[in-house]
Amino acid sequence: MIDSHAHILPDFVNDIEKIIENARLAGLEAVVNSAIEPRHIEFAKYIEKKNSHFVYTTLGFSASYIQKIDFLEAYEKIRDYPSLVAIGEVGLDYHWIKDSYWRKKQQEVFIKFIQLANERQKPLVIHSRKAEKECLEILENNADVPVLMHCFAGNLEEAKKIIDLCWFISIPTAVRNRKIHRRIAQNIPLEYIVVETDTPFLSPIPGKKNEPANVRYAIEEIATLKESTFEEVDEVTTLNAREFFQI
Ligand SMILES: [Zn+2]
Repeated sequence: MIDSHAHILPDFVNDIEKIIENARLAGLEAVVNSAIEPRHIEFAKYIEKKNSHFVYTTLGFSASYIQKIDFLEAYEKIRDYPSLVAIGEVGLDYHWIKDSYWRKKQQEVFIKFIQLANERQKPLVIHSRKAEKECLEILENNADVPVLMHCFAGNLEEAKKIIDLCWFISIPTAVRNRKIHRRIAQNIPLEYIVVETDTPFLSPIPGKKNEPANVRYAIEEIATLKESTFEEVDEVTTLNAREFFQI
C-alpha cells in the first residue's frame, strides 16, 4: 500500500511521529507528503529525511491561497528543492475562488508550475475543484510530464479523457461514502488508479482525522466495487504509485 497524497504537516495534524508509526504498522510501503505553501517546506524536508525511503515529498501551491500568498516564494523554493518526487498539488479551485480576476490569476500561476515541472522533469499532482474542464485543457496544452489527478471528482467523460491521455486518477478513502468517487472507481481500469487519504481531510471514520494508515479503506472499497480482491487492487495501485512517483 502507498498513500499517494497526505498532508502530514503541523498545520493539519498533531502527533506526526505516531501517524507515521501507524502507517508502518498498517503495512504501508510509502506515504507521499504534500506541502502546499512555502512555510510547510522546512518541515516536509525534516520529516522526509527522518523517514527516508518511507516519506516522500511533493511541493505545490494551493490554488485557494491565490489571494493570500505570493506564489513566487513557493515557485523559487520548489525550483530549488532537490529531492521532491512531484510538483503539486497545483491547479485550479473555482469552489473557493469565484472572482474572475483571481481565477485568471490561478490559471497563470498554474501554467508557471506546469512549466517548472516540465523543466525539472517531475510529474504533476493536480488539484481541481469545480474547474475540471479548464484544468484539463491547460494541462493538455502545457504538460510534458505524467499527471495525477488527486481526489478527482469530475464527471465520467472527463475521467475517460484523463485515461486516454494515460494519466492517473487518485481515489481517496472518501470513496466509501461519496458517490462521485465510487462511479469513477467502477468505470476506470485499475491500471490508471492510485489511492490516497488526503490526510487529515475526508476521513472514512466519522469524528476522526484521516491518516495514511486508513488508505486500506480505499483499497477495500475499490476491490468491492470492481469485484476484485484486496490483494490485486493493492498490488496494482502500489505499482502505479511507484511508477508515477519513481519511488
Ligand atoms: Zn490535498
